[in-house]
Amino acid sequence: MKDVVFTNEKITDHLYRVRGIGDACMYFIKGEKRGVLVDTAYGVGDLRTYIEKTFSIPYDVVITHGHADHANGINQWDKVYMNTVDVEVYKTKTDTGFRRSMLARSVKDIDEYPDELFQGPFEGEFIELEEGKIFKLGGVSVEAIHAPGHTQGIMVLLIPEERICIFGDACGVMTFLFKPESSSVSTYRNTLNKLLGMKDRYDRILRQHGTCESPLSLVEENLEVAEEILEGRDDHIPWEYQGQKVWIAKDTDLAKGMRKDGKSGNIVYDIDKIR
Ligand SMILES: [Zn+2]
Repeated sequence: MKDVVFTNEKITDHLYRVRGIGDACMYFIKGEKRGVLVDTAYGVGDLRTYIEKTFSIPYDVVITHGHADHANGINQWDKVYMNTVDVEVYKTKTDTGFRRSMLARSVKDIDEYPDELFQGPFEGEFIELEEGKIFKLGGVSVEAIHAPGHTQGIMVLLIPEERICIFGDACGVMTFLFKPESSSVSTYRNTLNKLLGMKDRYDRILRQHGTCESPLSLVEENLEVAEEILEGRDDHIPWEYQGQKVWIAKDTDLAKGMRKDGKSGNIVYDIDKIR
C-alpha cells in the first residue's frame, strides 16, 4: 500500500515550503519560539507527525482559505485559524471522492493511495483569523490580511521581517474568480488595490500552486487585466473548468499555465460575475 512522503525545501532562514502529494504546497514559518503551518493541502497522509518531527517547535495551524486543496488536512488538529467566512465553503469540499478527482490531475496513481490516508472532516474548533492578526514567533512574525475575491474569507500572510507575502490563491497567474464563493471582477479590483497599496512591505510573492513564486509585477498585472475585463477589452478566451463554462482574460498556454505575451497576472472569470 502506498503512503504519502512529505518533503520540505528551505526558502529563507525562517521559511520552508512543504509538499505532500498533489499540486498544492504548504509553508512552515519557524521563529525562535514558535512556528506557523500555512495550509494543509488535500489532507492525505500524516502531515502532523511530519511537521512535529521536522520542526520540533510549538506552532499554530493557519489556513489561507476553505478550498479542498488547502484545508483538508485540518482534522489532525483540535484548533486551527481560518477566516470563518470560509467555513461553509470548507464543509462542501471534504468528500474523499471529490478530493481524489482533483488530485487525479497531478497524481496519476492516486487510486493506489488507500482511503485510510484521507483525513476526515474537521471536528475541532475554528479560531477566527481576522484582519491584522499577528503571530509573533520570535525574530519573525506573520500578519494576516483579508484579500477577498477567490473566496470571501481568503487571507494573505505577510512576513514583514523577510519582506515576503504568501498569496495563496488570492492573486495568481490564473486567479480563479468564477466559483460561487468568488467575488465579481469589479469587487476583486478593490483587493488588488489593497495588495498594491502594501507593496512597500514585501519584495517576494509566494503562492501555493505551479511555480509557487511570482514576480512583484503580479498584482499590477492582475489589476490591468481586471480593468480590461471591466472595459470589455480582454482576450476573452472561452474555457471549461470542471464542467463550468468560464472565460480566461488573457490568451494563455494552458499546458504551461502561462500568458502567451510573457506577463504573469491573469484572471479566469464567469461572464455573469463581472460587476
Ligand atoms: Zn482556492
